Amino acid sequence: MLIHELTPDECADVLQTSAIGRLGCARDGQPYVVPVAFSFDRERGCLYSFSTVGQKIRWMRDNPMVCVEVEDVADRNHWRTVVVFGRYQEIHEAPEEADARQRAETLFRQRPEWWFPAAAKVGTKERHAVVVYRIQIDRMTGRRAARETGGER
Ligand SMILES: Cc1cc2nc3c(=O)[nH]c(=O)nc-3n(C[C@H](O)[C@H](O)[C@H](O)COP(=O)(O)OP(=O)(O)OC[C@H]3O[C@@H](n4cnc5c(N)ncnc54)[C@H](O)[C@@H]3O)c2cc1C
Repeated sequence: MLIHELTPDECADVLQTSAIGRLGCARDGQPYVVPVAFSFDRERGCLYSFSTVGQKIRWMRDNPMVCVEVEDVADRNHWRTVVVFGRYQEIHEAPEEADARQRAETLFRQRPEWWFPAAAKVGTKERHAVVVYRIQIDRMTGRRAARETGGER
């Protein structure tokens, strides 16, 4: 099997065609990884997502340096993965952030039932405050594997 590096454009293609990533954040030396839905803004080089306030939002507020892993895995011999390093930034309802919020919401609406599961309740817990945020991409790397025919290992 040969593993190739993806170009920045190929990385962007993976982000554009994926909707789920593993968001990693850390606090006090403890990493925390959860799956989240996101939308990629190619023009602005960022990922948008939203959430109610819980552990990941509290941790990213304390330490905005995050990582997102996105994958397109057909099987273990055929896959593309991208690792994004970036910064967590909340997009508030303030007038000066209306444009960013509008872009994020327009992209969210392109997904069916876009408000799930981010806005779902956990058990019987009420969770109201919704945070819209972007991961501003500082750098990203990508790899792909394609196993050639001929029984190579
Ligand atoms: C396909 C998919 C898409 C999702 N999209 C989004 C999204 O767009 N936005 C969003 O906010 N959430 C999304 N979720 C849910 C997300 O993975 C978290 O469960 C949720 O956001 C709660 O995270 P929290 O840090 O607020 O946890 P809290 O509710 O604060 O819970 C804290 C504790 O619960 C545990 N926990 C939390 N989440 C998980 C989990 N998924 N699996 C196991 N243990 C967990 C951890 O141990 C953590 O310490 C998605 C999940 C899936 C599977």
